[in-house]
Amino acid sequence: MLKGQSAVVTGSTSGIGLGIAQALAHAGINVMLNGFGDASHIESVRRSLSEETGVRVEYSDADMSRHDEIAGMVSQAEAAFGAVDILVNNAGIQFVAPVDEFPDEKWSQIIAINLSSNFHAIKAVLPGMKRRNHGRIVNIASAHGLVASPFKSAYVAAKHGVIGLTKTVALEVAESGITCNAVCPGYVRTPLVEGQIKDQAKVHGMSEEEVVRHVILASQPNKRFVEVQQLAEVVLFLCSGAASSITGASLPVDGGWTAR
Ligand code: NAD
Repeated sequence: MLKGQSAVVTGSTSGIGLGIAQALAHAGINVMLNGFGDASHIESVRRSLSEETGVRVEYSDADMSRHDEIAGMVSQAEAAFGAVDILVNNAGIQFVAPVDEFPDEKWSQIIAINLSSNFHAIKAVLPGMKRRNHGRIVNIASAHGLVASPFKSAYVAAKHGVIGLTKTVALEVAESGITCNAVCPGYVRTPLVEGQIKDQAKVHGMSEEEVVRHVILASQPNKRFVEVQQLAEVVLFLCSGAASSITGASLPVDGGWTAR
């Protein structure tokens, strides 16, 4: 029974994270939102989600590249809700360039936000989860956690790292009623991907529709974007009692991309 539990979803002011936070709230779970954006817009999302669902919805502006702020976000959630039962590590950014031209600061930023934040957030929630002998950790990795593409060295390295971290944590807490899994989406049409479509259209001299069909979805055999709602349902399932024996897994939700 998920109703009455509490969750932290990092990077949940946009895209996949927002969809997951909304789905958790609609399942009766208190949610700590996190991420960047316009403060008044975030506040109106927070208030309307709470009013629609009747759960408590809080917000932390913690920067996922700063481990002190990550620990502060978890403390804020524990103080507000009394516990963090569910952690969804979702915040992530992308940058595309050949390895020998990849800016050092972009490498460090992507490793910090897409990989190290997962470690710091897991470290902060585990003591409480161990005390209660229950917890669900879901890391939003990527198909790029399982296979590579050129020009995405930092992103691919970080997402492969997330899968290694997921397996290690799963083994360490296997007897504590805590599961730790990774979800590996293919392409989802969020602001992160809209930016890539625009960039690729310029680089290839193509229309955005041509880029979607021939570049972005070239690797996705079903030629359809993954829907945010589909990912949210997978996260809800991994948080359920039915999934209590699934741990250390990396679940592709990628229209067949990684079956190749
Ligand atoms: P998005 O750009 O729509 O959302 C990213 C979220 O992370 C936003 O809320 C943003 O404010 C937040 N964020 C960014 N930097 C942050 C920081 N330093 N501290 C706190 N929050 C920060 O992106 P999305 O497409 O929804 O991606 C979400 C996750 O899903 C990422 O980890 C991404 O790698 C992964 N993913 C996305 C796709 C896709 O096709 N969109 C595919 C596979 C995996």
